Amino acid sequence: TTPMVSEGANSNTLIIGSTGFIGRFIAEASLDSGHPTYLLMRPASPGLSKTTHTIDSLQERGAIILTGSVDDKDFLEKVLKEHKIEVVISVVGGSRILDQLILLEAIKSAGTVKRFLPSEFGHDIDRADPVEPGQSMYNEKRIVRRAIEAAGIPYTYICCNSIAGWPYHDNIHPADVLPPLDCFPIYGDGTVKAYFVAGSDIGKFTVKTIDDARTINKSVHFRPPSNLFSINQLAALWEQCIGRKLPRVTISEDDLLAAAEEMRIPESIVASFTHDIFIKGCQVNYEIEKPNDIEVCSLYPDTPFLTVDECFQEFATRVAVDVSKPKPAQKSKSSTTNDFILAPNAK
Ligand code: NDP
Repeated sequence: TTPMVSEGANSNTLIIGSTGFIGRFIAEASLDSGHPTYLLMRPASPGLSKTTHTIDSLQERGAIILTGSVDDKDFLEKVLKEHKIEVVISVVGGSRILDQLILLEAIKSAGTVKRFLPSEFGHDIDRADPVEPGQSMYNEKRIVRRAIEAAGIPYTYICCNSIAGWPYHDNIHPADVLPPLDCFPIYGDGTVKAYFVAGSDIGKFTVKTIDDARTINKSVHFRPPSNLFSINQLAALWEQCIGRKLPRVTISEDDLLAAAEEMRIPESIVASFTHDIFIKGCQVNYEIEKPNDIEVCSLYPDTPFLTVDECFQEFATRVAVDVSKPKPAQKSKSSTTNDFILAPNAK
């Protein structure tokens, strides 16, 4: 039988990957919600100098840092037991997806965990069917899903769709970068819609699900109606925010497929997802009708999502700050590091 976690409980929560792009939002939301929050950090983080500030600020807010790696089963089993961890949220990046199988072994052995959220935070990978190399990442995420289900560990899969930001087809972390200031890349005819969710809301609503009995063994789909935009609409919204018009350049389906075929990692993975979202409509071309599907707004109808307009206003504020500096410079959009500049609405 499935152990039930009662709504409102404050489970001891372990987050793996909290220095990452999505992970930081999850860690902040866990602390905001008052969960005893444990963060697994690698001992010698390559991005250490960039992430020290993040770690310090999370620690100041009460996070308990555990030093170790997601691929060390004995260590993980020990900390899960020692700290009576009931919820594990993994936010490891694309290259670490299969390491979660080791984490899963530790969860099975420890026997304390009532909910596991593997590193998903995108599309419903059992439905979406991107071209390579995105397909390979999904195959790994699918292996992890099937292993969790076979182990009988209660899970929640967060299908939060796109993060609010300009969806550059070569940048895995779009909310780290300003929307275009020179020219809009428009994918295909620009009419296919997608959901753009603020990073802070990805964190907030993810954490709401972890103690919620209604989300056990469910895929939680983030489809706030107010956050559904086509790329043409996004461009028009950004023009309103900055008070000027920008030219548009069409990036065709063939252009995206060619970028995917280049097999540059991670840019080609992002190109394959961009193709899936803005050409094939992978976020909107299915109904949420399976027994294990649930839509997040139906769970928490009284909690509003930040609108895309609010997120873009925040970006516009950053543009204003940038132009007031002597040498305004847009951050490289091919960055895939954990080099945080404040994401929209990040606390
Ligand atoms: P990042 O690469 O930004 O961060 C990965 C995190 O995992 C870092 O904190 C990193 O720590 C940590 N990590 C890496 N190796 C280990 C290890 N061996 N042991 C413990 N921790 C480790 O990941 P993303 O935020 O880009 O991706 C997380 C998830 O979100 C993925 O599933 C991805 O597909 C999805 N995603 C969704 C997006 C969307 O728009 N919906 C956008 C981007 C990602 P360290 O600081 O030590 O490197």
